[in-house]
Amino acid sequence: MKEKILICKKCEIMQSVPEDIAEYADRLYRLLDTKDRAADSLMEERLLICEKCEKHEGGTCLSCGCYTIVRVMKKDSRCPQKKW
Ligand code: SF4
Repeated sequence: MKEKILICKKCEIMQSVPEDIAEYADRLYRLLDTKDRAADSLMEERLLICEKCEKHEGGTCLSCGCYTIVRVMKKDSRCPQKKW
């Protein structure tokens, strides 16, 4: 039986963006006050929606121009298309 490897959405997106963007996103995340950070489960939920969105291309939201990994990390962030 073939073993299925599970990877979280955040890690998957981090692997798909250029290394400098992944580092940038990681640095931004660590700079955020912990009370302002979205929980991993919330980021995962948002990224799953972004992944299926017609405005999502190459790790970027074409509606606002943000890297989606950056857009989802702040707790009070909102989707410009009101999808999350
Ligand atoms: S419009 Fe919303 S759901 Fe679509 S990629 Fe942008 S942030 Fe994600």
